[in-house]
Amino acid sequence: MSVVAIVGRPNVGKSTLFNRLLGERKALVEDFPGVTRDRNYALVTRHAKPFTLIDTGGFEPASEDRMLVQMREQSQLAIEEADLVLFVLDGRAGLTPADEEVAALLRQSTKPVLYVVNKVDGPQQEQAAAEFYGLGIESFVAISAEHGQGINDLVNQICAQL
Ligand code: GDP
Ligand code: MG
Repeated sequence: MSVVAIVGRPNVGKSTLFNRLLGERKALVEDFPGVTRDRNYALVTRHAKPFTLIDTGGFEPASEDRMLVQMREQSQLAIEEADLVLFVLDGRAGLTPADEEVAALLRQSTKPVLYVVNKVDGPQQEQAAAEFYGLGIESFVAISAEHGQGINDLVNQICAQL
């Protein structure tokens, strides 16, 4: 089965997106062997396509340095497992050095990536999101994981790649 991993620095909304993609059908994490506390796994089916979704970043870093180390480690593991990576960015905070770190990891991998700019709750953030072209990317999906905007578009793009 295809594996879709959600990566990104802390606080961009990865877990909110994970829950949004699960909807009501929250799968039990313990069903997956070898699961670490740091990563959440769920079985999701959209457009009749089942895939395993991984959320990363379930740690509480002791410091900023420690946060970057853990983010790199976890992102790397998830990217290795993934057939498709959702790289989540924060449309309210804009581009940060931690985002650049994740982007660098992804450049070293050959896995396909969907760039997802979250927290685009209104037209103001939509304009600001243009800043993410600074990552050298051709396109991104603007969403609001909290309110649901753009989720159908994202799901269509995920399923088109599986
Ligand atoms: P994670 O650390 O990447 O897993 O991020 P979380 O999913 O825990 O979300 C971090 C914060 O961003 C929480 O306070 C969320 O409520 C908030 N958040 C998530 N998605 C959205 C969104 O679409 N819009 C806004 N305004 N806030 C959001
Ligand atoms: Mg989280």
